Amino acid sequence: MSHLTLDKLNTKKNALEIWGRLLKKLGDEMPHSKFEAWIRPIVPVDIEKKTFIIATNDILSKEWISKNHQAQIEEGLKEVSGKKFSLQIILKREVSDLDESTTLIERKPLELKREPLELPKVDEFHINAMKSTSCNLNLKYTFNSFVVGDNNRFAYEACMAVAKNPAKNHNPLFIYGGSGLGKTHLMQSIGHYILVNHPNLKVRYTNTEAFMNELVKGIMSGKDSNAKMSEFRQKYRHVDVLLIDDIQFLENKKATQDEIFHTFEFLYNSGKQIVITSDRPPKAIPTLTDRLRSRFEWGLLTDIQVPDFDMRVKILEERAKKESVKIGRDVSEFVANTYQANVRELEGALNRLMAYSSIRNIPIDLKMATSVIDTASLRPNLTIEKIIEITSSFFGVSKEEMKSPSKSKDIALARQVGVYLTRDMIKASFPAIGAGFGGRKHTTIMHSFEKIKTQMQSDLALKEQVSDLTRLISQKYSR
Ligand code: ADP
Ligand code: MG
Repeated sequence: MSHLTLDKLNTKKNALEIWGRLLKKLGDEMPHSKFEAWIRPIVPVDIEKKTFIIATNDILSKEWISKNHQAQIEEGLKEVSGKKFSLQIILKREVSDLDESTTLIERKPLELKREPLELPKVDEFHINAMKSTSCNLNLKYTFNSFVVGDNNRFAYEACMAVAKNPAKNHNPLFIYGGSGLGKTHLMQSIGHYILVNHPNLKVRYTNTEAFMNELVKGIMSGKDSNAKMSEFRQKYRHVDVLLIDDIQFLENKKATQDEIFHTFEFLYNSGKQIVITSDRPPKAIPTLTDRLRSRFEWGLLTDIQVPDFDMRVKILEERAKKESVKIGRDVSEFVANTYQANVRELEGALNRLMAYSSIRNIPIDLKMATSVIDTASLRPNLTIEKIIEITSSFFGVSKEEMKSPSKSKDIALARQVGVYLTRDMIKASFPAIGAGFGGRKHTTIMHSFEKIKTQMQSDLALKEQVSDLTRLISQKYSR
């Protein structure tokens, strides 16, 4: 092999390695559906000087990526490689010897590219993926994949009715119930159903945190504020169906409450459908103003209950069937007994079993399930307060200081690590963590969490401290 070829091999390997790091980063940051639909199919081709070349399946994806993700990819490349690249997107059919497992591929010399430009073959999956991601929907959440039982039948039927006849009978539709019981899934199912069956209607999904963040950005953008706000209103008012998730996170601020109120009035009065979810009914959300609360109660209120044992078994078995894995009744009963109050945890357990089974190449049986689910350390007794206790003594500060407004460096670091661990280990919501850490705002908490997460990638000492603490806490609280 000549020297030149070796160099070429190296740049390709380098491209592959950098791309791998970028995938990890984007996979963490982006909504799963967008990532799977657009980023995952990309193949890194090569690096030529300061140009990073990637290939996509078809013209549609190429255009979509250059329009929507180019800047994000360039920024990400810079972050994971420390170098500034400009991105060049080509089509996979412009490269020969495509070997997706190694991507050590040769580009066809340009002069050979004589075939007439074909019209892109636009398949249904891509159309749906593009539509869904542009209204912010996750492709996983459809009526088809939703298991109906006594705990959710009424909510399911209400959602179906709204999907079939938006803004007819139940407006607004308000769905409430505990975390992980399928509210987001059902709400997004309405969106998907409408995209397919009423293709001329515009659907938008947002969660309340994202809505508030965008609003604050709009208000704070100085002299551009008017333009930004009208863009914001265009986005949320010029729709036929607005899906607002997790309204319990609505902050008790006048600007936020007013904006939601006027959005509601505008849509409602123009005969548009509004669907809202929350972890509790409107009257139990203390941050809602009276006028908003009463409007939320105008339409239909419906709740989702905790699934009973049979339903939990059924959900597990349906999911396993969908994934084409075999699990015995004893295993699904064991898992259903272990996780009683949350479908998300139920699914998480099944995912761990499937991962374990495929890594070890062994079937999922009861013996394996009991060992895996035990070591996955369920921590029923671990609370925010316990994490604060352990973290503060680890960093040599007091529990009170963790909750105080103090911005001193040591205290701030201990506090941020505590926040990170709470989110990571008990999956508490940002507002709940805020309350536990001395009544901080959920946005502050979100920021602390992100900060530690990012910093750990470059700061090995910090990474070690966090993993020591994680180990310490797991040992103390696993059962
Ligand atoms: P919530 O919004 O109520 O917190 P999600 O809608 O996010 O809950 O549901 C959590 C997970 O459980 C999702 O992956 C969802 O697909 C799944 N899930 C919940 N209920 C059902 C159900 N009845 N059938 C199938 N999957 C469900
Ligand atoms: Mg949800």
